[in-house]
Amino acid sequence: MSTRIAAGFAALFLALPAGAGAQAQEIVLRAASAIDGRGGSIADATIVVRDGRIVTVGRGAAATPTYDLRGLTLLPGLIDTHVHIDTHFGKDGRATSQGETPQQSMLYSVENAYVTLMAGFTTVQSIGSPSDVDLRAAIARGIVPGPRLLTSITPITENSGTPDAIRAFVRKMKADGADLVKLFASKSSREGGAQTMSDEQIQAACDAAKAAGLRTWVHAHSPSSIRAATLAGCTTVTHGSQATDAELTLMQQHGTWFEPNIGLVSQNYLENKPRYLGIGNFNEEGFAFTEKGIPMKREMFKRALKVNGLKLIMGTDAGAGAHGRSAEEIIYRVQVAGQPAGDAIVDATSHNAMALGLADKIGALAPGFEADIIAVDGDPLKDITALRRVVFVMKGGKIYKNVAPVAVAPRR
Ligand SMILES: [Zn+2]
Repeated sequence: MSTRIAAGFAALFLALPAGAGAQAQEIVLRAASAIDGRGGSIADATIVVRDGRIVTVGRGAAATPTYDLRGLTLLPGLIDTHVHIDTHFGKDGRATSQGETPQQSMLYSVENAYVTLMAGFTTVQSIGSPSDVDLRAAIARGIVPGPRLLTSITPITENSGTPDAIRAFVRKMKADGADLVKLFASKSSREGGAQTMSDEQIQAACDAAKAAGLRTWVHAHSPSSIRAATLAGCTTVTHGSQATDAELTLMQQHGTWFEPNIGLVSQNYLENKPRYLGIGNFNEEGFAFTEKGIPMKREMFKRALKVNGLKLIMGTDAGAGAHGRSAEEIIYRVQVAGQPAGDAIVDATSHNAMALGLADKIGALAPGFEADIIAVDGDPLKDITALRRVVFVMKGGKIYKNVAPVAVAPRR
């Protein structure tokens, strides 16, 4: 057995008590640096965790680090505000769950939750499926490994009825345990993205959600649908692929969160085209829209970056084939669309936490916060692709992954 493997086993045994519920135990992490999620970073960082929460974040050596992650960078657990955690390639390899039992479908969701957590995403918002509710409960029980899960359960569309019917539907979603409400205010980008819900329907949904204490996430591609969602006081516009400078500025003025999905979702559809083709609007015409949308979204995002004060967040719209790859959206924003790496990381951590209404709990390395901490191999501020190399994952003080290369101390 090499020293490295032996040390790896030692680390594994150290991890067990924490994982087995001995949460009163203190865990000390030491790393080359820590990115705090709010735009700051600390060299030679030491983080102390107790009872599942961060106690201190500081500089300099701890007496005995429980985990010596020298050479690595610590970050708050990443957040994806837009996934479809139930979507998967079924037994025939196609992007549909047709012909599956509910049990089979749920196991795919469990797999998606696992790969998402292993990729360093400790919180995701699923937008949304009825099966999310049971998955959320299973993860919260603490045995099934997965990210903190939020869900919109069932979306509202133009077919959800009158404003009164929509208000009643929102109250039902609240009673069913929804964390937010999803609206489809426009067609899919594969169908041109025109507004579908009326302004009155959008207003009713966002008013009722606000009254029920729920956030709203509005799928909107066309300028008119983005304007309607913004003017109705909805929480977040997602996609926004056809936003002009006027809509970007309007969102900024109204404090609307904007979650563009410019990278992973299209990449994934094109990479997996044979698995999608022929299902719903995944036809040749739809794929032509997807291809055309890539430069359009990239240019829209570049314009969005120039709107001072626009509240940008990071969501991927991850579907079948994209789970566990959410960091690709961050990498794309930096490498292709020119967003500074530090800003892209803030979007995917503290900004996302704010948009989820969890700004005092997650999304930052700060005292009192949930100990959602990851380590990546490299410095993502210098090389954003380090986010592909997540070697350590802690959620709520519990370690779910530690494949960190062991630092070799010089022997005397
Ligand atoms: Zn979506």
